[in-house]
Amino acid sequence: MAKTKKSYCLRCNFKTNHNILSKHSIRSDNEDYDYAIDYMIVECLGCERVSFREEFVDIESAYPNEHGEWIPDITVDTYPKKSRALRKLENIHILPKKIKVVYDEAIKAFNADCFILTGVAFRAIIEAICIEEEIPGRNLEKKINALVRNKLITEKESKRLHSIRFIGNDSVHEMKVPREESLRIVLNIIEHLLNNLYLIDYNSKHHLETVIDKFPEFTELLSYTLPKFKANEEIPLAKILGKNVRRLNGRISDFETELITKINQNEYDKLDVGKVDTYGDSTSQVQHFIIK
Ligand SMILES: [Zn+2]
Repeated sequence: MAKTKKSYCLRCNFKTNHNILSKHSIRSDNEDYDYAIDYMIVECLGCERVSFREEFVDIESAYPNEHGEWIPDITVDTYPKKSRALRKLENIHILPKKIKVVYDEAIKAFNADCFILTGVAFRAIIEAICIEEEIPGRNLEKKINALVRNKLITEKESKRLHSIRFIGNDSVHEMKVPREESLRIVLNIIEHLLNNLYLIDYNSKHHLETVIDKFPEFTELLSYTLPKFKANEEIPLAKILGKNVRRLNGRISDFETELITKINQNEYDKLDVGKVDTYGDSTSQVQHFIIK
């Protein structure tokens, strides 16, 4: 018997060569229908992951090829099997707990081919978002409309959510099995929504909490905070940066010195050097800058 076989590897996520570690074969004892099953324990030659492979050989369906060899239909099952959907969202541990639980179950149901349950779970994710955001409403239709009124989603997104509602409704009330392709589209919509509502903000906040130690990063931070102020306002750097000051790690005066140099050399044009004066209720003299 051949020692290796191309087989799906979950870790590599494609078909790789596998060593056959062990094999057990049976032949049907059914006189009316001849088939064989080969059970194999296989090991990926790339990553060494061990899987189970089952080949159902439908001998009755065999046909001769151009060399006169009889070729049967072989149906292959591997375990663990290829996932239909992978969780694409990053940092899902920061999703509100109720939402994360339902989202996890939805993906599990989808991967287990339970399409009715997947439709129900997708619908439940929207319900969970409404609970989390304290959105009132007697039914899901009213809740989705309330999400728009509360500016949590756009009108366009609400249209997509209504289509999820229909799929969920059909699953719950009519036991209608949704098509895989519809579910895949709905999953995309839901992931996009969760990303918009909870994850993008987290990721950018997370990003903004890093320490700034290079001048280009410092000017990037300025371009992020400057739009909050009106032209010709004359204020100290600490006021412009607000609580982002802590990100400079105590080096604000270094950056201020460099900033003044760049402004004087016309290498920075979003601020002008202003007066040195007191600011607010502080008695110490601080350098001001003029917003351009
Ligand atoms: Zn592998």
